[in-house]
Amino acid sequence: MTTVVKASAPAKVNLVFEVGAIQADGYHPVNSLYLALNLREELTLVSGEVGSGISIYVHGDTLPERHIEAVPTDESNLVFKVVAALASHHGLATPDLQIDIHKRIPVAGGMAGGSSDAAAMLVALNEFFYQELGITKLTLAELAQLGAGLGSDIPFCLYGGLALGTNRGEQIQELPSLEFESNWLLCISNQGLSTPLVYQKFDELDLLHDFSDLAAMKITSAQELAGLMANDLEPATLALMPALSDLKAKLEELGALKAMVSGSGPTVAALFESSERCVEVAKLLNSHGIFALTSTGDSAGARLEG
Ligand code: ATP
Repeated sequence: MTTVVKASAPAKVNLVFEVGAIQADGYHPVNSLYLALNLREELTLVSGEVGSGISIYVHGDTLPERHIEAVPTDESNLVFKVVAALASHHGLATPDLQIDIHKRIPVAGGMAGGSSDAAAMLVALNEFFYQELGITKLTLAELAQLGAGLGSDIPFCLYGGLALGTNRGEQIQELPSLEFESNWLLCISNQGLSTPLVYQKFDELDLLHDFSDLAAMKITSAQELAGLMANDLEPATLALMPALSDLKAKLEELGALKAMVSGSGPTVAALFESSERCVEVAKLLNSHGIFALTSTGDSAGARLEG
């Protein structure tokens, strides 16, 4: 009998992204306020024929084709690594699987697209092993621990909602959801930007400050949220890609409460009070050949779909 399991997981934006001094291991500690967006990857797992191995099929009709083409379908895809890690955790051989990824999150846009696929895969495979082999399911915390070994954003994509991420972003403290729906426009650059280069520039600029107590922040409206949005990497990203400053200014001129580089960029996330205006501005940008999409927050973490 064929086993089919479906799961979905959200994209993220960093509402606040604070970065500490580089450590001996080469990493920068972060203090990140994460928000999950209703831009969800959908993943379907189907048991494959014995000996067929793992095949990955990626598709999507809301992203430019170059995003779909940029996703690897071999062992370097994060979902492949999830299969290997969870199978090995249970002492199992890698199962034969067909994996279908419906992609909605822009690739290499700093919105955790690959991590979201990995989170959906952890939840789906956890269920798959239970259905096929009767293996007791891992808890969310156990899945998050396994995911943290594969990518710093994977635990947040498992939890979703609003959360604080510390260390490399993988240590998650869940926070109460915002009491309002936030409207987001995500402006995705055609040009890539190397994350290590952004961190190098950040080190050069010497912008270190103490971390804030993000868990204690009270956010009751979109205006308040706009007032506290901050990204320590933004000056570094803008120094490397000065055109993004104009884009930020333009978005605020067009009605955004706040436009900010998302993570290391080059995506710019803009918060709007009105969902209608948010969609209007996205259409306007699209008509000028700029790739922009809209979404809302927050959204649930990775979950099984019927
Ligand atoms: P983050 O926000 O977590 O830093 P990102 O959203 O900027 O990540 P991704 O879309 O996750 O970036 O992709 C970064 C690279 O990871 C891609 O260029 C691709 O080569 C590789 N990759 C591996 N698995 C996946 C996947 N399932 N989906 C997208 N990219 C993947």
